[in-house]
Amino acid sequence: MIDSEPAVPTVGVLAMQGAFAEHVRALRRMSVHAIEVRTKAELDSCDGIVIPGGESTAIRKALDRCELLAPLRERIASGMPAFGTCAGMIVLADAEPDGAPPCLGLLDVDVQRNGWGRQLHSAELPIEYGDGSTSTGVFIRAPRITRVGERVQVIARLANGDLEPIAVRQGSIMASSFHPELTDDDALHRSFVDLARSRTASGVSSRADMHRD
Ligand code: GLN
Repeated sequence: MIDSEPAVPTVGVLAMQGAFAEHVRALRRMSVHAIEVRTKAELDSCDGIVIPGGESTAIRKALDRCELLAPLRERIASGMPAFGTCAGMIVLADAEPDGAPPCLGLLDVDVQRNGWGRQLHSAELPIEYGDGSTSTGVFIRAPRITRVGERVQVIARLANGDLEPIAVRQGSIMASSFHPELTDDDALHRSFVDLARSRTASGVSSRADMHRD
């Protein structure tokens, strides 16, 4: 077999609970191989992983049950690009102020679950990206970012008076409090796919199945 890495990255979407089908659909609009991930073998074949919105406690339990928590943490810690939306951001974050222990603990932000209050169950709010472009973000019982670590870059803010951070990036980890997979705005998915593609193109893919004997 000729040993050349295909330019098309495989991007997985953790498909245990929540809005995974919408992410797969958003990714399939781009030139990537998008797959649902429920097993370690599927995780091993990925060049990047999306952790969707849903219920962070349910996702955490499912990761435990499927014995994916440790392998997922290891892959992301060793550089596989990850993108967490809403509950997915909670799963990636370092700490929750309500004292719950972190799930993956890889993204240097603190988040507060349902941080805008339970009355803000669902809202479409104006948002602004770092390059000044504007859009609309869908927020559903969204986590609020209460601390941004030094290594973390804010890539989107609420476009109201407060300019609260709502999307961040730390190296190859991205996260947003809102649901870009529920709108036509594919800016964050594009950035994420670029991360996954640049890793495969530069040959630094952390794909676990490439390191097996
Ligand atoms: N409130 C949910 C949680 O705590 C997140 C909601 C969402 O992902 N839309 O996990």
